[in-house]
Amino acid sequence: MTFRALVVDKQGDSEVSAAVQTLTEDQLPAGNVTVAVEYTTVNYKDGLCMRAGGGLVRSYPHVPGIDFAGTVESSSDSRYKPGDKVVLTGWRVGETHWGGYSQKARVDADWLVPLPDGLTTKQAMAIGTAGLAAILAIVALEDHGLEPDRGEVLVTGAAGGVGSIATAILANIGYDVAAVTGRPQAADYLTSLGANRIVAREEIDTVSKRPLESETWAGCVDAVGGAMLARVIGQLKYGASVAAVGLAGGATLPTSVIPFLLRGVNLLGIDSVMQPYQRRVRAWQRLATDLPLEKLDGMIQQANLAVVPSLGDQILKGQVKGRIVVDVN
Ligand code: NDP
Repeated sequence: MTFRALVVDKQGDSEVSAAVQTLTEDQLPAGNVTVAVEYTTVNYKDGLCMRAGGGLVRSYPHVPGIDFAGTVESSSDSRYKPGDKVVLTGWRVGETHWGGYSQKARVDADWLVPLPDGLTTKQAMAIGTAGLAAILAIVALEDHGLEPDRGEVLVTGAAGGVGSIATAILANIGYDVAAVTGRPQAADYLTSLGANRIVAREEIDTVSKRPLESETWAGCVDAVGGAMLARVIGQLKYGASVAAVGLAGGATLPTSVIPFLLRGVNLLGIDSVMQPYQRRVRAWQRLATDLPLEKLDGMIQQANLAVVPSLGDQILKGQVKGRIVVDVN
């Protein structure tokens, strides 16, 4: 049995190339569940996995794709049987284990979750790791006291994948959302997702001389990091929290302890990759209920395997709007 997959291979020490190839089942990695993949997606991390020096892929040839959704074809684990619809995100699949840019994938049953009721495999991939991280961030903010009457919630990198889904969910569950974007042309899109206010990136992406600014945000989902995250920390309301999800704008954090000591604010770290099974299942249930599917439809750009490498380049440059859904068949 043959199938098609996007294979990334190394050329010399500092270059990689990607091409769709025909593979056989005996080339699949070890695992107790084989899945006929239907859809996958392109996340920021996928862009890194298809680039030389991205730092995540250890050995070549490699099949990237950190997310996939599809139907179980065979399973030696009692939790899954042929015909079950499943979703995979994280666990270093697509990084150290062959991933979802393929018509077939073989993984450990512990890494899968059943497709949540109310979602199709295509919708699950429109959500993907970006959406999972967005809901985990919202849950973390709620666990630290965020409620709709506390005031505006900021979403940074709002026109990207994490930001789009966070904006749509927060607006749907009753929050006033301020959306930071560096793309003025995305303002209508963000308003259509439910943002009440657009904040221009340049208003908030440089370090302030003052460690504390006016108390503005009741909470923040941050996909950008760097100077923007530092700035947000100094603008949080007393006792409020920011959930740090991403580093699209940088990995350093040029801040001081002053906002933590004088305003009791919280910096909450979000990791979607190693989330335990029960938390993953709960997060997917929240996504199925709190993310309006008509808003999700408005975020989707459709693609096939052959164009995934160029989409990987685009996402690293911050040029992808919303979410990409890749039909692998
Ligand atoms: P996207 O590229 O889709 O979104 C990132 C957005 O950030 C861009 O669309 C852009 O939004 C903004 N942005 C890009 N470059 C800059 C910059 N230099 N300065 C300020 N803003 C910038 O990526 P994803 O949404 O998929 O991922 C976002 C981040 O979250 C990534 O760093 C990713 O690795 C991380 N992530 C982390 C997870 C976790 O488990 N912690 C899980 C998923 C993602 P705009 O044009 O609106 O300004």
